[in-house]
Amino acid sequence: MDRTLFQEEHNIFRDAVRKFLEKEVVPFHEQWEKDGICPRELYQKAGEMGFLCPWLPEEYGGSGVDFLYSTIINEECVYARNSGFMMGLHSDVVVPYIFSFGNEEQKKKWLPGCASGELISAVAMTEPGAGSDLASIKTTAVKDGDDYIINGQKTFISNGILCDVCVVAVKTDTKADPPHTGVSLIVVEAGTPGFEKGRNLEKIGMHAQDTAELFFEDCRVPKANLLGDEGMGFIYLMQKLQQERLVCSIAAQAGAEQVLKDAMKYTKERVLFGKPLSKFQNTRFKLAEMATEVEIGRAFVDRLIVEHIAGKNVLTETCMAKWWTTEMLKRACDEALQLHGGYGYMMEYNIAKDFLNARVQTIYAGTTEVMKEIIGRQMGL
Ligand SMILES: Cc1cc2nc3c(=O)[nH]c(=O)nc-3n(C[C@H](O)[C@H](O)[C@H](O)COP(=O)(O)OP(=O)(O)OC[C@H]3O[C@@H](n4cnc5c(N)ncnc54)[C@H](O)[C@@H]3O)c2cc1C
Repeated sequence: MDRTLFQEEHNIFRDAVRKFLEKEVVPFHEQWEKDGICPRELYQKAGEMGFLCPWLPEEYGGSGVDFLYSTIINEECVYARNSGFMMGLHSDVVVPYIFSFGNEEQKKKWLPGCASGELISAVAMTEPGAGSDLASIKTTAVKDGDDYIINGQKTFISNGILCDVCVVAVKTDTKADPPHTGVSLIVVEAGTPGFEKGRNLEKIGMHAQDTAELFFEDCRVPKANLLGDEGMGFIYLMQKLQQERLVCSIAAQAGAEQVLKDAMKYTKERVLFGKPLSKFQNTRFKLAEMATEVEIGRAFVDRLIVEHIAGKNVLTETCMAKWWTTEMLKRACDEALQLHGGYGYMMEYNIAKDFLNARVQTIYAGTTEVMKEIIGRQMGL
């Protein structure tokens, strides 16, 4: 499908991002997968190129450009099969919390470092006992003079090992009714006594990405690190979910397009029973189905990108796109792997990694079931 979203300047930017990824990420990614983490210098290199938080106003170190630039970065990361260097998470998911809800002092303190890559960010909501049910988190922040004292544990935190600044969801009021009105967001800096990074968790995919446990034990953080108002954390998180879910959809859509392209190539090249695999009716049907879904997804995601940039409330639609594109990606990976036969099961083939990396996408940033719950509620059901 010809996309009408982008102008010449976007294409130039896309080209620069692609070249950067080809040079700085692609040749090293396999090693990072073995390491379970990518090097922190990568953030600084991306920052120097203006690829981190390009939407931030210039006064905070950004370029003041629109979300199309973030779209390009997120898509190119997928096309480069970069699953470790979390530019999208940092730039388009975490930093917006500081930008939107931080005061001027906080913005001046953290945003320039986030744009330059000197500061790597993470957001810590999930706990061992609370994922989808965010309002039931147990990590507490109790006021003590000019500080909060944080106690609790987080898990599955992307950039958990690398992060320098972590936006942590805490309970500042454990008795709040309803419970979500007791949630607040506090920025905790790495190195703060009582803030310990735990295990880099072993995952079935996304091997170059550090996903960690975080522990807070009598961790004293200045009150000045509270983002916005006490008790508003849950609302703030909800306000930013539209973009987070759109970013997931953009990545899933790009992933499905790539899987289709690769499957087309492979099935044209693989010969069996005297003819290319692509000439079997089953193959044509599978690829035709995949191509149809990819077209549908592209039209929907691009529409949402435009509406998001226009400032429209498309939270329900981004929930729809999040569950549908990530489930589509999962289906596409499964079908494409089947078309690869035994080779699809071998890690040296891209589809094997794609299959493993896709699996988490219907889980993080809100599961498929949670998306459907939200949509159902918005439908008045
Ligand atoms: C690789 C990875 C990276 C992550 N990165 C981060 C991060 O950076 N920061 C962060 O805070 N979290 C992160 N997470 C956590 C992620 O957001 C949670 O795993 C997710 O929200 C689901 O929570 P849970 O794992 O506790 O599952 P649960 O909430 O226990 O869900 C279990 C099952 O119940 C289903 N379910 C839940 N609610 C309902 C309902 N109302 N109706 C029907 N079924 C329901 C779910 O869909 C799921 O199938 C990450 C997770 C992974 C795997």
